[in-house]
Amino acid sequence: MRTDIQSILNKLGVKAENAAFSTGSVWGGGSNSKSLESFSPVDGKIIASAKVATSADYDAIVEKSQEAFKHWRTIPAPKRGEIVRQFGDALRANKDALGTLVSYEMGKSLQEGFGEVQEMIDICDFAVGLSRQLYGLTMHSERPSHRMYEQWHPLGIVGIISAFNFPVAVWSWNTALALVCGNVCIWKPSEKTPLTAVACQHIIAKVFKDNDVPEGVCNLIIGDREVGELMTKDGRVPLISATGSTRMGKAVGAAVGARLGKSLLELGGNNAIIISEHADLDMSLIGAVFGAVGTAGQRCTSTRRLIIHESVYDAFAAKLVKAYGQLRIGDPLDQNNHVGPLIDNDAVASYLDSIEKCKAEGGKFLVEGGVLDGAEYASGCYVKPCIAQVKNDFEIVQHETFAPILYLIKYKTLDEAIALQNGVPQGLSSAIMTLNLREAEQFLSYQGSDCGIANVNIGTSGAEIGGAFGGEKETGGGRESGSDAWRAYMRRQTNTINYSNTLPLAQGIKFDL
Ligand code: NAD
Repeated sequence: MRTDIQSILNKLGVKAENAAFSTGSVWGGGSNSKSLESFSPVDGKIIASAKVATSADYDAIVEKSQEAFKHWRTIPAPKRGEIVRQFGDALRANKDALGTLVSYEMGKSLQEGFGEVQEMIDICDFAVGLSRQLYGLTMHSERPSHRMYEQWHPLGIVGIISAFNFPVAVWSWNTALALVCGNVCIWKPSEKTPLTAVACQHIIAKVFKDNDVPEGVCNLIIGDREVGELMTKDGRVPLISATGSTRMGKAVGAAVGARLGKSLLELGGNNAIIISEHADLDMSLIGAVFGAVGTAGQRCTSTRRLIIHESVYDAFAAKLVKAYGQLRIGDPLDQNNHVGPLIDNDAVASYLDSIEKCKAEGGKFLVEGGVLDGAEYASGCYVKPCIAQVKNDFEIVQHETFAPILYLIKYKTLDEAIALQNGVPQGLSSAIMTLNLREAEQFLSYQGSDCGIANVNIGTSGAEIGGAFGGEKETGGGRESGSDAWRAYMRRQTNTINYSNTLPLAQGIKFDL
């Protein structure tokens, strides 16, 4: 495997010994002696190291971006879209290599690694169309011979802070939209997945170079929280789009809010599926199991809770236990396996700690958890997906543990189920499994789910790029990707034009000289 990964790194231009180099694109790190080691949870090996950006590197990049913005915003939006189209094609050409590196550096299954790159391609296609549809409205003025309309202008630098679990897709959701809107971007990827970021930087840098666009439109800074904080406190960065834990979002929201900047926050979830007495249980099983164990429970949309009607509770729990018995856990690059590793040892510790806390609060495990050992699991990051019967108000159930722990909760009435589903601090994704129209519509109504995403007969996990993605409450309120999420990357300007011979004031106010 090591040889394969080496050739993939070579193909993507990522040097194994030191990922902080430069090739016509811009990133920080050259002058620092501090570096980050990228560790693969698949086999525990250090893949490569990447130099961390200093504050001087960061300042140089911001200055370069400011210059680049002056040029980039003058390129007509459909022409910017054409460059994003070429970026999508470059991703197509590199899908296998990049998807494999995502899988190896992050630990998700190869299928999901390819899926992540496909999502990047899809958002590029979406952004190309969007580049001709950055619409504003026109309004009727209350004053004669006046015209009112609104238009949308780019913001400037968009700072993108991303999490480890979607190491490249989240960047592309932001970047593709920000670029067609006329912005330039500075990306601070997760410190746990710097190499996939460097690979993406190479791919996009080549596209810009081929189009003779000056340096500085898309930029990368490698580093941990401190490097991210440089952006959140910087008034030269009008929008910070941050994806990560609620703890991080509270810090980012406060820092950006303190300077009255804009933030787009995509934070933790605590997603539930309601399994109704009217559900197709076989279909529900697939949604529930994929939602709970896919990406080893490390998706923001992972299914953490199943709220099951009392009449089908025992039967569905038995199906789950049987299905969990068939799961194959192991190397995510081997397509026969369903579940790969957690990202690192800290994640394993947090998983074990949550299991202990759950037991201490009275949780009863139907499928026990634990860390796997043996040669195949030498990284120490492979854990058993587990299932516990709990009460929704357990402290641990109210909390997002980023691991494959599934909580089962019983309900009697749909009102109660919806209250349980909404009864957590987070509000990202939710679902109901039912063949009953009344139940489905109630769940989707204003009296139903309080989440940003509410599905019927689909699990909580995964989303298509065409819809706006994000959640409410402690999930942060941001929306990215499809629908009109592009508006977050632009500033709205209302224009009133007077083509009369007089200057009437609004609201009929008289002011004669
Ligand atoms: P994390 O919060 O530890 O880190 C995320 C990113 O924020 C990293 O790049 C990190 O360096 C940076 N960061 C942390 N503190 C910061 C600060 N004070 N200022 C600036 N930057 C800071 O999250 P993680 O462990 O990488 O990812 C898992 C979390 O992300 C989960 O909670 C998951 O639900 C969430 N997530 C949410 C979405 C969504 O769209 N809602 C998508 C993916 C992941």
